[in-house]
Amino acid sequence: MTDTPLKLFNSLTRQVEVFEPVHPGEARVYTCGPTVYNYPHIGNMRAYVFADVLGRTLSWKGLKLTHVINITDVGHLTDDADAGEDKMEKMAAQQAQSIWDIAEHYKQAYWADVRALNIRQPAQWTVATDYVPQMIEFAKGIADKHCYELESGLYFDVSTVADYGRLARAQTEEGEGRIEAVEGKRNAADFAIWRKTPAGETRQMEWDSPWGRGAPGWHLECSVMSGEVLGFPFDIHTGGIDHREIHHPNEIAQNQAYCCTNGLDDPRNSGAKIWMHNNFLVERSGKMSKSSGEFLRLQLLIDKGYHPLAYRMMCLQAHYRSELEFSWEGLGAALTRLKRMVMAVEQLKARHAELVSASIEPQAPALSEGWTLKQVQGDDWGKLAPALEKFDAAIADDLNTAVALTALDDVLAAKKVDIAKKTELAAAMDAVLGLNLFGLTRADLRIRPKSATITEDEIEAALARRKEARAAQDFAASDAIRDELAAQGVEVMDGDPLGWEWKLG
Ligand code: AMP
Ligand code: ZN
Repeated sequence: MTDTPLKLFNSLTRQVEVFEPVHPGEARVYTCGPTVYNYPHIGNMRAYVFADVLGRTLSWKGLKLTHVINITDVGHLTDDADAGEDKMEKMAAQQAQSIWDIAEHYKQAYWADVRALNIRQPAQWTVATDYVPQMIEFAKGIADKHCYELESGLYFDVSTVADYGRLARAQTEEGEGRIEAVEGKRNAADFAIWRKTPAGETRQMEWDSPWGRGAPGWHLECSVMSGEVLGFPFDIHTGGIDHREIHHPNEIAQNQAYCCTNGLDDPRNSGAKIWMHNNFLVERSGKMSKSSGEFLRLQLLIDKGYHPLAYRMMCLQAHYRSELEFSWEGLGAALTRLKRMVMAVEQLKARHAELVSASIEPQAPALSEGWTLKQVQGDDWGKLAPALEKFDAAIADDLNTAVALTALDDVLAAKKVDIAKKTELAAAMDAVLGLNLFGLTRADLRIRPKSATITEDEIEAALARRKEARAAQDFAASDAIRDELAAQGVEVMDGDPLGWEWKLG
C-alpha cells in the first residue's frame, strides 16, 4: 500500500502543504495551553483534542514526536489588549485565594479533562512561572533593537520586523481596533512584553527585571517556552483560531526579532514551519462563555450522563478547520455512534478470544498504543486493504477524521475476514483516533445522570418483573412498571436497535 504524504494546512501561507520535518524522522510540536484561572469549557478542549489527533497522526506516520503544551499561570490579561487585568490576579482576588492555589486547582481540573478525553500526555508541560529568568534573558536580547520603555512597561515595536501581522492578514496601522490605546505607543499593534507593577501596588506574582518589578507578557511566554524546549525553528505551532489574530502574530514578531531573521516568505523565520489553528466550537445560547454562570464544562456533560468520549467523537466527526455547533442532540448522536463501535469491538474481542482459546489462532495481536503505519504496512490485509488505504489517505489529508471514522466503520463491518487481522486493524486505527474502543464497555456508555438515584440492580429487577407481566399478558401491570420507572427517570426502550433496553434521562 502507499504511504500517503502527510499534508497540513499552514495558516501562515493559507495553503495545504506537504509536511517535511525540520529534523528528519522527528516532529516537534508546541500547543498553546490553557490559562489556569478557571475551568476549561468544552470549546477549549476541542483545541487539545485537535492537537492530540495531530500528534497521534505524526506518530502514525512513524515520526518521533516531541509535543509540548504550556500552562499559563501568569501574564494573560482579560482582554488580549495591554489594558485590563491579569486573569489570574483577578480570579485570586475574587476567590480570596493565592494565585498559586488557583493555578494548582484549575491545572488539575484541566488535566482531569485531558485524561477523560483520552488526550495523550505530551512530552512536557511547560509552566510559565518556571521560565521567568529565560523570559527576561529573551527580552534583554531583543530590547535594544525592537523595544521601547513606557511608564507601564517594555513594549515591542511591531514596525521593526518584516511582515508583521501576516498570519492574521491584518493591516498593522489599523490594528483592527483590537488593542486598546496605551499612551505613548508607537504603533497601535505594539504590545507589552514586560508589564511593570504600577507604583504603590503589589501583585502576588512579580519579579525583578531591568525594566522594573513586574510580570512578563503572555506572548513572550510562549515564544520563550517553545524556543527553549523545541529550538527554533520547530515544526508545528498550534492553537485555537482566535490566536491567529493577535497572540500568534505577536509570538512570531518576537521570534523574528530573537532569531535575527527577516521576512516571512520563508515560514521558518516565524519560529515554526507550520502554524495550525482549530476552528471554534459554538453554542447558540451563549453557554460557552465562562462569564455565563453555568458554562459548558466537560463535567457538565458527564453529570448529565454522557461519557466524555462521546464529546471526542463529536469533535472527530467534524473537520478541525470547520466551525462545530454544539447541541445535546449532536452529542447524543455521537454517543450512539461510539456505542455502535464499542459493541462491534466487543463482539470482535469475544470472537477473537474464542479463536485464541480454541488455538485456531496461535497468537492474539498485541493491542499496543504505539501503532504506526510502518508496522501495519507490510502485512497482507486482503479484503481489509482498501479500508487501510482509505484511512491513511484521509488522516494524511489535513487530518480528515470524519472520513477516517468511516474507514474504521468499514473495518468493523467487514464480513468473512480474518478476525485477528480485523482486530489488529481496528486497534491501529483507534490508536490514531483515540476513542479507546478496546478499553470501553457497553456499560460505560449508558446514559446515567448524576442526579439519578435508582441503581442498575433496581432497574434490572423492575424490568424482569415487567417481562414476567408481559409474558402473562398482564399489560396493565407491565405499563404500571414502565410508569414507575419513568417517574424515576428511567426510559424503557422496547425494540431499540442497539439493544439498550433502558436509559436514564
Ligand atoms: P485559553 O485558556 O482561553 O487561552 O484557551 C485555550 C485554547 O482554547 C486556545 O487554544 C483557544 O484558542 C481555544 N479556544 C477558545 N475558545 C474556543 C472555542 N469556543 N472553540 C475551540 N477552541 C477554543
Ligand atoms: Zn501561546
